[in-house]
Amino acid sequence: MYSYMDSVELFESPGKGRGLRATKEFWAGDVLFIEPSFAAVVFDSYVANVCHSCFRRQQKLQRCGQCKFAQYCDRTCQRAAWEEHKQECAAIKAYGKTPNENVRLAARILWRIDKQGGVVSDYQLISVEELEDHISDMPELDLKELKVDVHNFLDYWPRTSKAHNVESISHILGVINCNGFTVSDQRGLQAVGVGIFPNLCMVNHDCWPNCTVVLNHGNQSAVNTVYHSHRRVELRALGKISPGEEVYVSYVDFLNVSEVRKQQLKAQYFFDCTCEHCANGTKDDLKMAGTVVDGVPVPDEQVKEVTDYSLMMLEKMDKARLDGNYHEVVKICRECLEKQEPVLADTHIYQLRMWSMASEVLSYLQFFDEAASYARKMVDGYIKLYHPNNAALGLATMRAGVTHWQAGHIEVGHGMICKAYAILLITHGPTHPITKDLEAMRMQTEMELRMFQQNEYVYHQMREAALKNQPMSMQAEPVEEGIKNMFRRK
Ligand SMILES: [Zn+2]
Ligand SMILES: [Zn+2]
Ligand SMILES: [Zn+2]
Repeated sequence: MYSYMDSVELFESPGKGRGLRATKEFWAGDVLFIEPSFAAVVFDSYVANVCHSCFRRQQKLQRCGQCKFAQYCDRTCQRAAWEEHKQECAAIKAYGKTPNENVRLAARILWRIDKQGGVVSDYQLISVEELEDHISDMPELDLKELKVDVHNFLDYWPRTSKAHNVESISHILGVINCNGFTVSDQRGLQAVGVGIFPNLCMVNHDCWPNCTVVLNHGNQSAVNTVYHSHRRVELRALGKISPGEEVYVSYVDFLNVSEVRKQQLKAQYFFDCTCEHCANGTKDDLKMAGTVVDGVPVPDEQVKEVTDYSLMMLEKMDKARLDGNYHEVVKICRECLEKQEPVLADTHIYQLRMWSMASEVLSYLQFFDEAASYARKMVDGYIKLYHPNNAALGLATMRAGVTHWQAGHIEVGHGMICKAYAILLITHGPTHPITKDLEAMRMQTEMELRMFQQNEYVYHQMREAALKNQPMSMQAEPVEEGIKNMFRRK
């Protein structure tokens, strides 16, 4: 299954250090490689809601009888996880509490290295010990935290396990800090843990990349390997890649101006982005642009004024959202959009954020019509900014399609769902749970569309009945990107 690894090779990328390049030709949607996690742990904030073996979110989990910390779907998941949990289990029991996610992950990595070495398969291109830790670049505050983690690690690490010095523990914690990859739940919509994927760490960043990375948990019934090959990432091509070409993914969202992206990359990954889109500031103008009224551009001062105002409102909105005060969120969005829409271009990123949140929350509150109109504006703006095969564009289009369907705009809804499906086939692949959901949605909306075209009256009656069958309590609460659990009917 991992024979994919002969499709890329390590090389010295000019000005970037190590990188990966393709050894053969790829086309949009091709998988360059699949890589299982070397080690992974559930985030501290999710330890009670996520299976520690398969990372699926579950209502009911069974606790490990020994440590009372680890939680699993069932015996199958528990058994599959035992090899990576057994030393941790004894350590937690002896320690009497649970260390944080970084310390837990560092321990899992070191137990595995002690047992199997830093390279565990023929397809692993680099040893975990050789990954960058960037400790010398870390700001004072982060260094302090690292020291606390090292201290806790030493308390937690059993005397019976192989001893490691402070330097090598710091190194592993540094590796986690700059190379830890967010592991999502089974539907890929919520970050629930963190893991280390050594080959993936070798893929350099470009703000306009030729690849995307997706977590695919695979088939649960196939869980029988010792080290969880179902927690794995896929590197997928977004377009044509020629042999010898370097492969890239984007570490940050493109919906920020180049200056902000560069700051994020510097702070988090310690490098200066020199990609073409940053060098040329590509699309920066669109992201901060004013609109044109009757052929006359809105004056710059006015655009700046509304931009500053938007930033303040976005902060206010975020706060209300975190408090779960959704009616307040809607109030803020409406108030802000009233000022934004006559002044800002439809590609202004602060306006896009407002449309995105407004559609998300309004859809949650079942104001489907208003939600759909905002969702449509959001997608229209995204299309002008994102790469046509960008995963975020695909997910946003899916969300907008579902909102239109909920609002009874079956034609537009079906069209959007088809577009989203085409993107997700490339970015997520046909076997990913979201793509499968989307395929079911596509067939459902196609059927409804046919019904609508034949008999509008019967269609609307049927829809009303379908919507009534969804009690509010069944609905997921809006999340930041607002894309979780939207297929509530299932
Ligand atoms: Zn499980
Ligand atoms: Zn246990
Ligand atoms: Zn860049």
